[in-house]
Amino acid sequence: MDNTDFNGKLAQLLFPDIDKTPDYYEKLYPDRGLPEGARVTRFAPSPTGYLHIGGLFGALVDVLTAKVSGGVSYLRIEDTDKKREIEDGVSGITDGMKAFGVEFDEGVTGFGTEKGNYGPYTQSKRVEIYQTVAKSLVEKGLAYPCFCSADELDQIRSEQEKEGAAIRGYFGKWAKCRNLTYDEIEKKIKNGESWVLRFRSDGSEERRVFFDDVIRGKIEMPENIIDEVLLKSDGIPTYHFAHVCDDHFMHTTHVIRGEEWISSVPKHIALFKACGFRVPKYAHTPQVMKIDEETGDKRKLSKRKDPEAAVEYFITEGYPKEALIEYLLTVISSGFEDWRRANPAVSAEDYPFNLKKMSSSGCLFDIMKLRDVSKKIISTMTADEVYSRITGWAETRDPDLYSAFTSDKERTVAILNIDRDVPKPRKDIAKWNEVKDYYSYMFREFYTNDLVLPENISPADAVEIVSEYAGVFSLEDDKETWFNRIKGMCDSLGFASDNKEYKQNPDKYKGNVSDVVTVIRIALTSRAQTPDLYPIMTILGCDEIKSRLEYAASFWKGMLPNG
Ligand code: GLU
Repeated sequence: MDNTDFNGKLAQLLFPDIDKTPDYYEKLYPDRGLPEGARVTRFAPSPTGYLHIGGLFGALVDVLTAKVSGGVSYLRIEDTDKKREIEDGVSGITDGMKAFGVEFDEGVTGFGTEKGNYGPYTQSKRVEIYQTVAKSLVEKGLAYPCFCSADELDQIRSEQEKEGAAIRGYFGKWAKCRNLTYDEIEKKIKNGESWVLRFRSDGSEERRVFFDDVIRGKIEMPENIIDEVLLKSDGIPTYHFAHVCDDHFMHTTHVIRGEEWISSVPKHIALFKACGFRVPKYAHTPQVMKIDEETGDKRKLSKRKDPEAAVEYFITEGYPKEALIEYLLTVISSGFEDWRRANPAVSAEDYPFNLKKMSSSGCLFDIMKLRDVSKKIISTMTADEVYSRITGWAETRDPDLYSAFTSDKERTVAILNIDRDVPKPRKDIAKWNEVKDYYSYMFREFYTNDLVLPENISPADAVEIVSEYAGVFSLEDDKETWFNRIKGMCDSLGFASDNKEYKQNPDKYKGNVSDVVTVIRIALTSRAQTPDLYPIMTILGCDEIKSRLEYAASFWKGMLPNG
């Protein structure tokens, strides 16, 4: 039997039910007809139900790369490894993406749903495609069945170890099934022996492969010589083979993925070439790192040790989606912060992202920096916006906060508006789970008295201040009159109403007007620092103010020697 006959017969023996050819799929998935330079990218996670922050980071790079080039990004679920899969592991990924507004043009949109013309976008639904390509590889003599059992493979491994072989795996002299005859194969198949399909590599240890990584530049590596498994014994492809077929038929131009895949590139290039597919461009993104709190060393964000490794964490904590995205962009792209300074009001989605400007070294995730970014973003939102975000977050996560906030919407919005609608809004809140504590003094249900005076104020003076203030405050006052009233109390209490005067003669006074305001603030809010006290008082209302001032007076009186 000559080789063509052998290959043709073998292909038919191995895949009797496959009646299509790769050409059929070429026509089914035609060129996308995109303009020159448009990039097609994909995010291709396994459905483990867990979205790592590195995944969101990678997805963002995919979406932005496609967007700035007028291309297409899509989400493909790589579920060929059933061992790693969990039931409905897809929603965890798509929900995480949605929560942070990362939207693909095509692909899987949720559990059992998808959009786009190049689907199905879930690998387990594409088995016929892989088997069709696999059959064509057998026809070309580029793949063969391997009947080696797990024990035989173990034995090969241990012999390679004993020999100290530099390269380990199924190749060359170790590849026992590479040269089986048709009759031998047929017999084994008739006997019901299980087989996997292996790639017939023509790689050489002496040769090198070169590729241009968009982020890392030129990379040179030894050629692949391993006869990699393409289809497992159940006919399901390995990741290596499946993604090659998918990236081809889905017309991926740029494979953007984590740097842990760099070592597999020679294998992937060999597979693309064997299949007659154009090799895509590669961009391997750096891993997300953090500084270890104990050792001070840089290390990979770990699913086990770091709650912030999971995107879910940021949803639960209540970080606004824009904050995480904005922060990730500062980490991903060295030019982002300059661009942001020049374009403060433009949406981050419109950032002219450039893959080439990505750093290739591990990017450092710094939660304190995220907090700062988030505070800034929240400070620029309107009170109505903040109200709807907080209530949306709290509805399922903090029912007490939800009911307190929604029981009087107008009042809550007024609270949220304090120090917001001003030229320099306060940057105090980083995430929604801080809100309850931050505004606790505005809600009876959350407020607890904690009347700690600063060291420079004696309880006796504090009693005098609040007792006097209880008699003079008026909610009819405008802000200036309100402040003048406090100033007016100062001199008789021994505090300077005028700051300049106080600075010149500090010894003449017990303190100045701001100390008096602080005492009133503590009496009303149990805090030495709050946003503007004037609107706080207008919202608290007369009765509440009176009762808090009375309580404070009696509390501090209780601290006096004869109190
Ligand atoms: N399914 C692979 C993973 O989950 C993706 C690798 C790739 O993007 O090519 O790591």
